Amino acid sequence: MQHVEHMRTAVRLARYALDHDETPVACIFVHTPSGQLMAYGMNDTNKSLTGIAHAEFMGIDQIKAMLGSRGVVDVFKDTTLYVTVEPCIMCASALKQLGIGKVVFGCGNERFGGNGTVLSVNHDTCTLAPKNNTATGYESVPGVLRREAIMLLRYFYVRQNEKAPKPRSKSDRVLDRNTFPPMEWSKYLDEKSFIENFGEDYKKFYVNNADLFSNSVDWNLIESGHDNIIQELDEQCKLFKFNVHKKCKV
Ligand SMILES: [Zn+2]
Repeated sequence: MQHVEHMRTAVRLARYALDHDETPVACIFVHTPSGQLMAYGMNDTNKSLTGIAHAEFMGIDQIKAMLGSRGVVDVFKDTTLYVTVEPCIMCASALKQLGIGKVVFGCGNERFGGNGTVLSVNHDTCTLAPKNNTATGYESVPGVLRREAIMLLRYFYVRQNEKAPKPRSKSDRVLDRNTFPPMEWSKYLDEKSFIENFGEDYKKFYVNNADLFSNSVDWNLIESGHDNIIQELDEQCKLFKFNVHKKCKV
C-alpha cells in the first residue's frame, strides 16, 4: 500500500529525530502524481529553541527554497503530506492556507490536533485555501503506522522522564508496549473516504475501530537507528528538483 510505504520513510526519519534528542515527529512531502519525494522535515524545537519549529514547517521551508513562495502554492494542490503525528492546529491551518492536497498521518495529537482530534481545521471555514484554489479544505487520513508513531513518542517521554531532575511516578518510567487506544476512524474521515484510500477489503477495520494491520507493530522499523536517512532523502529531493527545473526549461 502506497500510504504505508511513504509513512515508513516518515517513521524512519522520526526515529532519527529521537536519536538526536528531538521529539520524534517527522514528515515527508510527496508529489502526488509522480510519487516523488519533494521535501522532508522533522521536529526541531529542542535544537533551535523555537517552539514553532514543527516538522511540517521545516518541509515547507525546503519547498519554498526550491520553488519560491508562489511555487509552494502552485505545487501544494498536487502534494500529499505524510506525517507521523496529526498536524497541530497551527500547522493544519498553514497547510490549508497553502492549499495542500491531502494529509496522511500516523497517530492523533491528543492535545493540539488540528485534523479532527481537537479541532477540524482541515474542514472548517475559519481559514481559507489560497486564491484560485477551489478546494474548501483538505482530506486527512489517519491511522497509517499509528502504533509505530505512538511507540516512538512513548520512547521519548520515558527517556525525558528518566533525565528529569525529579522523575515523576514510577509508572511514567515504565514503557508500555502492549496497550493502545482504539482507532476512532469516524472522528477523522467517513467510510466512503476510508474505502477510497484503503480499499473495500479493509472496511472491517473502520467498522471495528481497529488498526489497519490488526495488532502488529513493526518493531524493526522503530527500534533500529537510521543514520543514512538524511543523505538518502536529500538525494531523492535533488532528483525532484532536477525534474522540475528540466520541465520549466522545455
Ligand atoms: Zn505543528
